[in-house]
Amino acid sequence: MASVTVVGSVNRDVVLQVRALPRPGETVHAVGSREGMGGKGANQAVAAARLGSAVRLVAKVGGDARDILASLAQDGVDTGWITTADRTRTGLALITVDEPGENTIVLEGGANRELTVADLPEVLTSAGDVLMAQGEIPPEVTGAAITRAANQGATVILNPAPAYAFDDDVLKRVDVLVPNLGELCTLLGVPVPATSGEVGKLLARHPLPVAALVVTLGADGAIVHDQDGTVHIPAPRVAAVDTVGAGDTFCGALADSLVRGRSLRAAAERAVLAAALSVTGVGAQSAMPTAEEVDLFAQ
Ligand code: ATP
Repeated sequence: MASVTVVGSVNRDVVLQVRALPRPGETVHAVGSREGMGGKGANQAVAAARLGSAVRLVAKVGGDARDILASLAQDGVDTGWITTADRTRTGLALITVDEPGENTIVLEGGANRELTVADLPEVLTSAGDVLMAQGEIPPEVTGAAITRAANQGATVILNPAPAYAFDDDVLKRVDVLVPNLGELCTLLGVPVPATSGEVGKLLARHPLPVAALVVTLGADGAIVHDQDGTVHIPAPRVAAVDTVGAGDTFCGALADSLVRGRSLRAAAERAVLAAALSVTGVGAQSAMPTAEEVDLFAQ
């Protein structure tokens, strides 16, 4: 069976809930706190594995990550290509969330910064596999993974988060670019439009050198833009309690569907359902749905 290979980050998330975000120099008391597993690489790997795909994660963690590795394995993620930098801490995300749901995040890359091109397996993927990459590891590793997987005949998905100036030579090897609206505008060097209805025009005016784009729009769903045109896929209305990890659930679900041979449009439709379910639960990985849950929701 074809599989999904994720090359990306692993973090420990510390989430502090506050009434209002502190201003510079101010100390505020948290009204709640929790620790969780995070990192875009790990999150997207878990999202695809929960939906039933065979998933392998290529990443680097510190010597303090035994619980994280056990949790990934519990979700069925193949951790055999996760290497350990013993003298470094696993990546850390310090997340502060206020009552309306606005957040600030301070990211300490830790072991993610020590992932090198030499850590990538020579046989990264096979024809028919999906390679999933993001922006939280050194750019040269992301670039090398994309090029290698494309040469090996895999379908390459890049979630440009955080967004930075990816090499055009790398973007040309990407089959599906999946930014949120802010990341898309950063890549294009344009201001974020007032309404998501303007995204289609934006894409027509500023073509990116990728075969297809799926732009995520939060509660507005997503836009698929490829050689067949531009289609808006609305999100179902749900009672959202925590949107952390929605984008990662979307990307993991997209990879799960594409590796099963679904069309990009069908894959995006299922990803919209999976991501909507994920915002109805607290946390990132803890709120990611199984295939059965998505099937039930789709009925
Ligand atoms: P995050 O950083 O919170 O993980 P993101 O900014 O990367 O998310 P978004 O565009 O906010 O990505 O959300 C990804 C997808 O999640 C959307 O395309 C949509 O399908 C789903 N989603 C997000 N928020 C909601 C919501 N309130 N209701 C339903 N679906 C939602």
